[in-house]
Amino acid sequence: MSQRILIVEDNKTLAKLISKKIESAIDFQVDVAYSLSEAKLFMKMYTYFITLLDINLPDAPNGEIVDYAISKKNHVIVLSANIDKEFRQSMLQKNIIDYVNKGGVNDIHYIIQTIKRLQKNQNHTVLVVDDSMVFRKQMQNMLQNLFFNVITVAHGEEALGILSTNQNITLILTDYHMPVMDGLELTYEIRKEHDKNSLGILAVSSNKDNEVNALFLKTGANDFITKPFSKEEFSCRINNTIEALENIQIVTNHANRDFLTGLYNRRYFFETMAVYEEEIVESGEKFAVAMIDIDHFKKINDTYGHDIGDRIIIALSEILRTSTNHRDIVARFGGEEFCMVLKNINRYSALDIFERIRSEIEKFSFSVDKDNFLKFTVSIGVTIHSDESLEETINNADMMLYKAKNSGRNQVVFDEGS
Ligand code: GH3
Ligand code: MG
Ligand code: MG
Repeated sequence: MSQRILIVEDNKTLAKLISKKIESAIDFQVDVAYSLSEAKLFMKMYTYFITLLDINLPDAPNGEIVDYAISKKNHVIVLSANIDKEFRQSMLQKNIIDYVNKGGVNDIHYIIQTIKRLQKNQNHTVLVVDDSMVFRKQMQNMLQNLFFNVITVAHGEEALGILSTNQNITLILTDYHMPVMDGLELTYEIRKEHDKNSLGILAVSSNKDNEVNALFLKTGANDFITKPFSKEEFSCRINNTIEALENIQIVTNHANRDFLTGLYNRRYFFETMAVYEEEIVESGEKFAVAMIDIDHFKKINDTYGHDIGDRIIIALSEILRTSTNHRDIVARFGGEEFCMVLKNINRYSALDIFERIRSEIEKFSFSVDKDNFLKFTVSIGVTIHSDESLEETINNADMMLYKAKNSGRNQVVFDEGS
């Protein structure tokens, strides 16, 4: 079920135009009210993702609807033709998301982009680090109003602790002046582990420490904002940083991932394995490498067609992905052949896991359509890496796969030599 948006605007033509544009651009159900009293009825009936509110309505000529909507816990974007600076300031004092002009094609486009942005914000977690509780609370409110998930902490050490256990943080907002570890030191510590393309840092400084902004940037902050700041500047800086990170993510994904399945591609597999092999030089950690290949896949293609073949490959990659933990690697090497690395594992556990994967695939029924199911199996060759090169390890796994195929398929063959 799609979410709802409420437009309250007494200019019916304009209201309908905005409503139509939104519905055709994004998957939302849009309701239109022409007065405060109508809007109240709608708000009683439905929960809204966003309300777009005109501040000059026949029964509420002075923006009364804004306070009403906020009191009912609505997220508000104010629509206005009024560009009076003081009025705009007074509106922005309230807990609204944005204040936009209405009427022009560009204005509607801006509204739609804003809604899309807010939808995506729901996938991001922001960590706020500030020793002042008042400030933490204020930033938390602004961020939550923009639909971000928010975690707040009072100092740098706590922030580092949260970061080490929480994989989902996209952006860190850090104050400069904090006891024990200041914002600069925190930035320095974070950048030892996370680069600025994968984790954003927005430094919050005060206008008294001007020179510190440059230091923040040099230490690895993505951007800074100086207190006191307006709500508009705050959300623009946050959005810019998040959008830059998202774009980098998109480009990196294109380069590192296989188009059909979203798994890592062969090129990225070798790149990331090189980093991993460096990491384990000292500890001598063992890892298992498996080559996995669908049995008689050609027959599936010939019988059901290439599209079903593709969907089988996607279904298999889903099974492989969910059978591993986040440190392990699953890559599609090509066609119906996959390579999997289980890190820090011994041969017994590895054998156990691959046997379980094989049997899960054997039990799995792929639904071709409502009435037809098809089953398939895989052969798996496994080896434990020891002192040889990665290429040799993969070759060994490949040889074991060959053995599995020759011994009747649908089985796991383990390299006895390892
Ligand atoms: P075996 O059990 O020995 O592995 O037999 P097989 O038929 O699975 O192996 P074979 O290598 O003879 O054939 C693999 C087929 O996979 C041939 C090729 O057309 C098909 N194929 C390769 N890539 C794709 C793909 O991306 N999508 C689909 N649908 N088919 C693919
Ligand atoms: Mg402080
Ligand atoms: Mg095959």
